[in-house]
Amino acid sequence: MLKDRVAIVTGSSSGIGRVIARELARRGARLVLLSNESIRILEALEEIRHLSPDSEAYEADVSSRPCVTEAVNLTLERFGRVDILVNNAGITRDNLVMRMKEEEWQRVMEVNLHSVFRLTQMVLRPMMKARYGRIIHITSVVGHTGNAGQGNYVAAKAGLEGFAKSVALEVASRNITVNCVAPGFIRTAMTDKLNSKAREAILARIPLGVAGEPEDVAHAVAFLASAEARYITGETIHVNGGMYMG
Ligand code: NAP
Repeated sequence: MLKDRVAIVTGSSSGIGRVIARELARRGARLVLLSNESIRILEALEEIRHLSPDSEAYEADVSSRPCVTEAVNLTLERFGRVDILVNNAGITRDNLVMRMKEEEWQRVMEVNLHSVFRLTQMVLRPMMKARYGRIIHITSVVGHTGNAGQGNYVAAKAGLEGFAKSVALEVASRNITVNCVAPGFIRTAMTDKLNSKAREAILARIPLGVAGEPEDVAHAVAFLASAEARYITGETIHVNGGMYMG
């Protein structure tokens, strides 16, 4: 159980993040939802409050330091603590490296990698004072395998895993764990963009034969956030139907 734990989940207006927030709320956590888009984040909050009435949502572009600072400060004013941080917000701007524009590289780095550095840094101080914390980054199978057309996204996701290990070493003595969950092919708006040929090619590479659901990722995150995972840090849990076995 995560009773009364305070959990920030970024990118929780839709897709995997929304289901992670729901799962943590179902297990008793109080949620702080963060996303870039005001209407969908309020819809998500309405749903979460049925499970965990003491939850909040803040509109924040994770790539903006002032927005993230404000959201973390509001969380600390409201709850006085942050126990769990799930860095889930992520975007793609796919292109072959030969054709990739500087802007496509930069935007993916800002949203998928730099934002995680900032948010992690901001929650570490209260977590260190409390001598408790669970930080979980949502990475990707392609951070391990590489993927043509996703050089920017792959670099960011692989970077997150190295970052997680370094922070895990820095804060282990304060009872703060830092781990990653690396999804494979999960049914969300991000993967709905693929055409049917690309989708079938991916499905053919999945031994379990089906796409994953956001719930499959959420269960792994909830485990890492739980007391049962207290002795796991600097690790990655793969949720990919056997597509990649690390
Ligand atoms: P999604 O459906 O596109 O959702 C992405 C979420 O991130 C949305 O809630 C979006 O909210 C939020 N977001 C995007 N840019 C943001 C920003 N600048 N500031 C704050 N929030 C922002 O994607 P998903 O499939 O659920 O992916 C979630 C995570 O899983 C990502 O990190 C992704 O890389 C990873 N992942 C997904 C798959 C998959 O198969 N789906 C596989 C591997 C890894 P707004 O639009 O409301 O801002």
